[in-house]
Amino acid sequence: MTTGNIKTIGCVGAGQLGRMLALAGYRLGLKFVFLDKSADAPGGQIGDIILGEFSDPAKVAELASKVDLITFDVENVPVEALARIPKDKPFLPPADALAAGQDRLAEKELFQKLKIPTTRYRSVDSMAGLEEAIHAIGYPAVLKTRRLGYDGRGQRVIRSPAELGSAFNALAGAPLILEEFIPFEREVSIIGVRNLIGDIAFYPLSENTHRDGILRLSIAPYPDRRLQGLAQKYARRVMEHFSYAGVFTIEFFVRKGRLIANETAPRVHNSGHWTIEGAVTGQFENHMRAILGLPLGETWAVGYSAMVNFIGSMPKLEAVLAIPGAHYHDYGKEPRPGRKLGHATLVCKTRKELLKRLRKFPGLDN
Ligand code: AMP
Repeated sequence: MTTGNIKTIGCVGAGQLGRMLALAGYRLGLKFVFLDKSADAPGGQIGDIILGEFSDPAKVAELASKVDLITFDVENVPVEALARIPKDKPFLPPADALAAGQDRLAEKELFQKLKIPTTRYRSVDSMAGLEEAIHAIGYPAVLKTRRLGYDGRGQRVIRSPAELGSAFNALAGAPLILEEFIPFEREVSIIGVRNLIGDIAFYPLSENTHRDGILRLSIAPYPDRRLQGLAQKYARRVMEHFSYAGVFTIEFFVRKGRLIANETAPRVHNSGHWTIEGAVTGQFENHMRAILGLPLGETWAVGYSAMVNFIGSMPKLEAVLAIPGAHYHDYGKEPRPGRKLGHATLVCKTRKELLKRLRKFPGLDN
C-alpha cells in the first residue's frame, strides 16, 4: 500500500499518547479509530473508539478492518492479539520491537546482544532464586516484574537481607528480574525516529526527573555532545536491528560519564512531549511521518524546553498560561491519585531563563 492510499489510522489504545498522535495526524489529513476498553479514554474526543480489550484478537481484527494502517499507544498489547490482522495491513512499529520491550529480560538480552551497556541482572522465579541472584548482584538491588511494569509499578528496591522476603512476596506470582541499583547522577532519554525507507533522526537528549517511579519533569536539550553521540549510536543499533519504523525511545542512567540503558519504548514517549512546541517537528508528527514512509521532519530544538507532568490534579489553566512561553495540555481524564492528567511545556530562549521561570511553575510540586 502506498502512503497516498492511507487515510485512516487505527491506534491500539486511546490514551493521551494516542490522542496526541491523532492531533498531529489530523493536520496531515489522517483520521483515527482507536481500540480501548474505556469509552471516555482521551483519544475518544478526537476519533472513534471501538470498545474492547487490547488482548482480544477479534477486536484488533475489527480495528484492522476499519483502517489502512495500525499503530499503538500502549506497550502492553500482547503480540498474540495481532494474529488476525491481515498480512497486507501494515502494523508499525514492528511487532518484534513491541515484544522485546514488553519483557525486561528480553530487553536486557537485546541490549547485551547489541553491545549497549545495561545494568547487571538475574532472572528470578522463586525465593531461592532471589537469594542466589542477590548473592551475585549485591545490595542495593531492584526487583522488578518482567512484564507490565511501568511508571514505577511492579518494582521494589531491596537494601538489606531483611527486605528480601517482603519484596518477593509483594511481586510473587509473576516472573521477575533482579537488577543492580544504579546510584545515577541523572537520567536521560534519547528519542529517535526511523521511517520506512530507513532515514533516521534524533532529538536532543532530554534530562528526566522521576518521583515514585513516575516522570515529573523533562528538560531539553541536555547539553552533552559526547553522551548525545553515544545515545544516538545505541538507539540506531536497536532501530536498525528491527528495521524499525516510528518513534523509538531508550531511557538511560548516567553514571561517571557512562550511559547505562534502563529500558526501551517502541513508541512516542512522555519525555518527548516537549518536542511538540520545543522542536521543529514534534515526536507525534514524526511518528506519523515515519510509519507512512514520508520524509522526516527536522528534530532540532528551537530553544530550551521543560515539560512538567500534571499528576493527580491539574493546575489552573490561567496560572500556567500566565507564564511566558508556557503551553498547557489537558488530556481530558478524570482526576485520580498518581494518574497523568496533562502536562505543560515551557519554551525559553536560554537555559538560564528556563530554570528561572520553572522555579515557580504551577503543578511542579504537587
Ligand atoms: P522503570 O520502570 O524501569 O523505568 O523505573 C522507573 C524509575 O525507577 C527509573 O526511571 C529510575 O528512576 C528508577 N529505577 C529503576 N531501575 C533502577 C535501577 N536499577 N537503579 C536505580 N534506579 C532505578
